[in-house]
Amino acid sequence: MIKNIIIASNNKNKIREMKSKLNPFGFDIVSQREAGYDIDVEENGTTFRENALLKARALYQLANKPVMSDDAGLEVDFLDGAPGVYSARFCGPDATDKDKYNKILELMKDVKDESKRTARFVCTICYIDENGTEHFFEGKCEGKIAFAPQGDNGFGYDPIFLVGEESFAEISEEEKNKISHRGLAINKLLEYLRDTK
Ligand code: IMP
Repeated sequence: MIKNIIIASNNKNKIREMKSKLNPFGFDIVSQREAGYDIDVEENGTTFRENALLKARALYQLANKPVMSDDAGLEVDFLDGAPGVYSARFCGPDATDKDKYNKILELMKDVKDESKRTARFVCTICYIDENGTEHFFEGKCEGKIAFAPQGDNGFGYDPIFLVGEESFAEISEEEKNKISHRGLAINKLLEYLRDTK
C-alpha cells in the first residue's frame, strides 16, 4: 500500500528532492500546499530539532496524518557555530544568498589557515507517524569555507562550502544529494520507513 506523507514546506527544491528519493520506494510525498494546507510557522526554536518539530507539529495538528519537516543550516567553527539555526536570516530578512555568504567570507577574511576554516551543513528531519509519534533523523556534511565563491549551481551557502576542492555549487544536484546533510538525513528516514512499512 502506498503511504502518504505530507511535507511541511513550500520550498520547491526540498519537495522535489524528497519526492525523488522517497516516491520510488512506495511513498507518496505531497507538499502541504498540494494537500490543501497553507501554513507558515515561525521558526523560533534554538536548535534544528526544535524548528523541525515546530513545523511538523503544526501541520500534524491540522492534518492528523503522517507528516515530515526538515530544518537545516551551516555551522562555521571559527564563528562558534554561526550562522547555525539562523542561516536563513543571517543578514536580516531581505538579504540575498550572496549577501549572506559574503558576510561569512568577510568575517573570515583574516583566517588564512585552511585548517581553521572548517564548517558543516546540518539537517534534522522530523517525521510524525500516523499515531502522532515523533521521530528525528540527522545528517551532517563536513567541509571547509572557501576563500572566494566557486560555482553557479545550488543555492544558499553552496558557493562557499567546499568538500575537497569543489564547492557544493560546482557539483551536480545528483552528486550533492549523495553526500549532503539533507541527502543523508533523508536516507535515514527512508531506512526507518522501509523497516516499519
Ligand atoms: P532550511 O531551514 O532548510 O530552509 O535552511 C535554512 C538556510 O540554511 C537556507 O536558507 C540556506 O541559507 C541554508 N541552507 C540549508 N541547506 C543548504 C544547502 O544545502 N546549501 C546551501 N545552503 C543551505
